[in-house]
Amino acid sequence: MIGKLMKLLGFNRGSPTAIDPICLMEVDKSNPSGGTSTYQEVTYYFCAPGCKRVFDQEPERYVDQIPPTKP
Ligand SMILES: [Zn+2]
Repeated sequence: MIGKLMKLLGFNRGSPTAIDPICLMEVDKSNPSGGTSTYQEVTYYFCAPGCKRVFDQEPERYVDQIPPTKP
């Protein structure tokens, strides 16, 4: 799990894929099937519209799952 998290943390540094914060699937940044949402100046990518809808309702609940930094 730690290894996977480390991989996730690199997702916004030039990687062609991002991690859907809802289901933790890899999503192609150039063609996100579920669209994108921006929260606190960070863009999140979704595998499906349903994931985006869930995120948009309570973004603060999900961004904590994949924070690059956390106090
Ligand atoms: Zn998803």
